[in-house]
Amino acid sequence: MSMSRDEIVRVEDEFLAKVYHKRGIVVDRGKDALIWDVNGKEYIDCMAGFGTAFIGHSNPKVVEAVKRQLEKLIACHGSLYLEARAQLLKRIVGILPKTLNKVFLSNSGAEAVELALKLSRKFTGKKEIIAMMRGYHGKTMGALSATWNQKYRVAFEPLIPKIRFVPFGKAEKVREAITQDTAAIIVEPVQGEGGVYVAPDGYLKELREIADEKGLILIFDEIQTGFGRTGKLFAFEHWNITPDIICLAKPAASGIPIGITASKKEIMDTLGVGEHSSTFGGNPIACAAASATIDVLVEGKLWEKAAKLGEYFIGGLRKLAEKYRVVREVRGLGLMLGMELRFDVLDVMEKMLEKGVLILNAGRNTLRFLPPCVITEKQIDKVIESLNEVLKEKEAKIFK
Ligand SMILES: *Cc1c(COP(=O)(O)O)cnc(C)c1O
Repeated sequence: MSMSRDEIVRVEDEFLAKVYHKRGIVVDRGKDALIWDVNGKEYIDCMAGFGTAFIGHSNPKVVEAVKRQLEKLIACHGSLYLEARAQLLKRIVGILPKTLNKVFLSNSGAEAVELALKLSRKFTGKKEIIAMMRGYHGKTMGALSATWNQKYRVAFEPLIPKIRFVPFGKAEKVREAITQDTAAIIVEPVQGEGGVYVAPDGYLKELREIADEKGLILIFDEIQTGFGRTGKLFAFEHWNITPDIICLAKPAASGIPIGITASKKEIMDTLGVGEHSSTFGGNPIACAAASATIDVLVEGKLWEKAAKLGEYFIGGLRKLAEKYRVVREVRGLGLMLGMELRFDVLDVMEKMLEKGVLILNAGRNTLRFLPPCVITEKQIDKVIESLNEVLKEKEAKIFK
């Protein structure tokens, strides 16, 4: 028996842990940059499953690859060999810099980070990690320890010790925080959850130099920025530098759970048998979905589309910023965009939803846009027009 809209809401509200700020929409299906609710109402999806549906909802090549794999084999542990996994590994090392040629597969972003932290300690024999203020790396105990926001942390302390936070964008602060016991620096090239802040030019290059000079591991968390989001296949390409470890996840398999930790061979090789594992990691379905996703990305050079549409989108947002005093700043790179307002954005998100546009926030005051790269200019126009109406109304109320 299928459920009515109201029953779905009632059951989720009653039985699902109340950890999500629920939006009042019951989703039915999606295609490219659109989703529909169970009443048939259409939405332009600038949330895209938190950035996971980067190549668009239900891309036919991904659907086909998953279906084929489902019929063949669903369960296959990492201790057995499997073509779907080998196919994916070839693709991953094929698109990463040559030095990042050893991979561990898991099931989420946080897990990809967990391994990066473990590798840092194992490889260097040191304990301290330098992380960034406003940084976000996930909510498992290890990843949470490197996540800045107090709201996520306090109730769960003590977290893992010896993580030092420094201001994002200031290389000299990293230098000051280094001790004899520092193992690694972890950073998002564009901070997502923390408010959509792009690394200032020269910053990541300087971190690379510091890491080389001091023998530290440089970890890039590209879980949100990776696979085309920022207008390059990986965000580090904007600055022409390579990390020692990269963490990937969100869009890697178009919404099927996957986490990828890739590193230099000598770093991953410090792990012995049994020192890390994951029952679901590298499972056939995730591998098939990720391989198809990477093929679609690479064949279509979809990061170029993200760069072009990102320019178009941010242009529209900047016009609104000029027009309305309630807008504090517009930031972003490619199709990872933020608009900071002078007040809490939840009400704006709600009004946008009524107008058929689904957007995210990043903290209290920043609207975040993570649309699929198959969004059209016409759809972007509709987003900007809707936002124009909502901001106009807000402005009239605030400055009447
Ligand atoms: C989402 C995100 C994570 C955590 O990923 P989960 O799959 O939710 O565990 C980590 N780092 C960054 C930069 C993210 O955006």
